[in-house]
Amino acid sequence: MKRLRRILRNIPQHWVGDGFPVRSLFSYGGGNAFDPFLLLDYAGPHPFEPASAPRGVEEHPHRGFETVTIVYQGELAHRDSSGSHGTIGAGDVQWMTAASGVVHEEFHSERFTRDGGTLEMVQLWVNLPARDKRAAPGYQSLLDADIPRVSLADGSGTVRVIAGEFQETPGAARTFTPINVWDIQLDASRSVELPLPEGHTSLIVVQSGSVQLDGTRVSAVEVADLTREGHLVSLLAESPTRLLVLTGEPIGEPIAGHGPFVMNTPDEIQQAIQDYREGRLGRLS
Ligand code: MN
Repeated sequence: MKRLRRILRNIPQHWVGDGFPVRSLFSYGGGNAFDPFLLLDYAGPHPFEPASAPRGVEEHPHRGFETVTIVYQGELAHRDSSGSHGTIGAGDVQWMTAASGVVHEEFHSERFTRDGGTLEMVQLWVNLPARDKRAAPGYQSLLDADIPRVSLADGSGTVRVIAGEFQETPGAARTFTPINVWDIQLDASRSVELPLPEGHTSLIVVQSGSVQLDGTRVSAVEVADLTREGHLVSLLAESPTRLLVLTGEPIGEPIAGHGPFVMNTPDEIQQAIQDYREGRLGRLS
């Protein structure tokens, strides 16, 4: 059984651009405790009035990792230097492999800008092992309908398998290292045992509702950081509860990060900054 190591809570909100009211639930700034995950930003739920110009984040680069955007409410639009563009609506996931480098922008979609509404989303940064940091950039557009769903025993809830595997159902995303990303809804007063891999960094984000875990209440919006040892966790939902479960095999390599670049050494960061300045990470056309 995995045990509760600590709860991350009371996380302040800040704005990313003018479109994303974000709580950084964790980040690699304090060390490598969440390896292979680097950062998790949770935005909203936040109401936006109709507007004439899309809110968001202007053109910026990434190198050395992947960004995973999961939209729960609202709609985003993206555009990047590889020529990819599109919208990400409720239930959809954008799995972007920056690897050797991309330049992109992230905005509210035209429709969401015009109509307004509630925005709720997360962005997860997943590290790449050194051997893949210079791989070609890539992009997986995972629509809600493409993401497999598994019903939990006794009707206690539903799991959307975004990445990895749940009870032998493979997830929608291709990953470079062993990772699970599960979007879980639990009904009230239900207990459930989730199989979490031995040795994986294991995090449970409570987005709404609350659970009892290892004799402790974990409420929205808090993160339960579990031991790597053990292969199960037992939860009791105290109310209808939405969870994001993240597990990953630690990569175990040094991290050097600066803003949108995450590499292994400071020299590689200097190279990334220079490559971006000189246009080698691509440009938005
Ligand atoms: Mn970005």
